[in-house]
Amino acid sequence: MADHRSGNVVIVGGGPAGMMAGFLLARAGVAVTVLEKHADFFRDFRGDTVHPSTMQALSELGLLERFLARPHHRIDGAEISYNGTLLQIGDLSHLNMAAPFIAMMPQWHFLDFLRDEAAAFPAFDLRMNAPVAAFVERDERIAGIRLEDGTTLDARLVIAADGRDSIVRRTNALPLEDLGAPIDVFWFAVPKAEVGNRLRGAIRGHRLIVLIDRGDYWQCAFVIAKGSATTVIARGIAAFRDDVRAAAPDLPDLAAALPDFDAVKLLSVSLDRLTSWHRPGLLAIGDAAHAMSPVGGIGINLAIQDAVCAANTLAAPLAAGEDVDALLHKVQDRRMLPTRLIQGAQRQAHERILQPLIAGNGGLPGEPPALLRLLNRFPLLRQIPGYLIGHGIRMEHVRSPIG
Ligand SMILES: Cc1cc2nc3c(=O)[nH]c(=O)nc-3n(C[C@H](O)[C@H](O)[C@H](O)COP(=O)(O)OP(=O)(O)OC[C@H]3O[C@@H](n4cnc5c(N)ncnc54)[C@H](O)[C@@H]3O)c2cc1C
Repeated sequence: MADHRSGNVVIVGGGPAGMMAGFLLARAGVAVTVLEKHADFFRDFRGDTVHPSTMQALSELGLLERFLARPHHRIDGAEISYNGTLLQIGDLSHLNMAAPFIAMMPQWHFLDFLRDEAAAFPAFDLRMNAPVAAFVERDERIAGIRLEDGTTLDARLVIAADGRDSIVRRTNALPLEDLGAPIDVFWFAVPKAEVGNRLRGAIRGHRLIVLIDRGDYWQCAFVIAKGSATTVIARGIAAFRDDVRAAAPDLPDLAAALPDFDAVKLLSVSLDRLTSWHRPGLLAIGDAAHAMSPVGGIGINLAIQDAVCAANTLAAPLAAGEDVDALLHKVQDRRMLPTRLIQGAQRQAHERILQPLIAGNGGLPGEPPALLRLLNRFPLLRQIPGYLIGHGIRMEHVRSPIG
């Protein structure tokens, strides 16, 4: 069975990159079909951080007010508990931006929001339960996709926004460079009483935990050495609770929150990028082009920035019916720099801080490092990490047209 809508773009994956690209292309009047393999957006491991630069794009689109009307809470500072000493290390409140804070909104609500807004455009077509199995190739071009049920869809352009297990990787359609990641993460929730407005990292001894405030519970990310999950699980849930308690003694009742390992998910961390993000008929964006580590909570924002850049570059020529193959490299040319810089910083954090820390081989001193102490002492200095978090690197402004 084939579906031959002419002049269309097919986007594989309804994550932040795919939904934002779909929204922007449909807004420009380009017929776009987003194919998402799951039946809904509910995946609790996706991260929740909507950064100021993403909200700047929403503001430029006239969507910010409606976005902020959805349940969320705001974080305008970052803090770290270092061997029991609480240090303030980032401040976003001074940013001269439409939303000078991180909006903590479960990612499924953010994606629901983009879906509801995109539904206003007749050119937008979202299909859930639509897993893509393969690309269709014709005359040395990617000319469409084949769904797992055998249906094929022709496309002038296929955008792969299907995350770090993308079919561009599975089919070797584009070349991949693996940067390696020495950590994995155990992911679990611990109910709590009060709502806060900070994102908290806690380092104690050789243990590290990040606590994301989701209102009535902490979403916890406990960092372990890559490949060590089986050993941790073999020690039993009581020993794991002791490890968590040692990193964050303030956490409430762990026995109720972590009765067994069914309450804990193992998330494998990857750090890699395609060395070429495109070939005729195909462009990869978001984690499909560059899998990001959770360090810095920046992956969603980078995915959104890629989508804005792709639409800025391609929406007008696509809407005019032009061939865009010769333009695809422009997206990579522009977005590779922030990708390289951010992945470089994440790699440094993995190798210089996290790996020695969790190996317990004396990588970190008992006292907080000087940089953290300086940030804690001088509020003005805390504005620098705040600026980097808020603006990101090479922030994209919406320039794609309204169709
Ligand atoms: C443990 C962990 C915690 C993280 N926490 C944060 C955080 O707090 N903040 C942050 O900014 N980033 C975080 N990240 C990174 C962030 O989740 C990603 O960078 C971001 O989601 C990438 O968006 P994307 O749209 O490119 O891909 P994804 O979010 O991975 O979306 C891809 C979509 O494609 C769909 N899909 C996959 N294959 C197919 C197929 N064959 N057919 C159809 N659909 C398909 C998937 O179901 C999914 O909906 C975290 C990452 C990890 C591993």
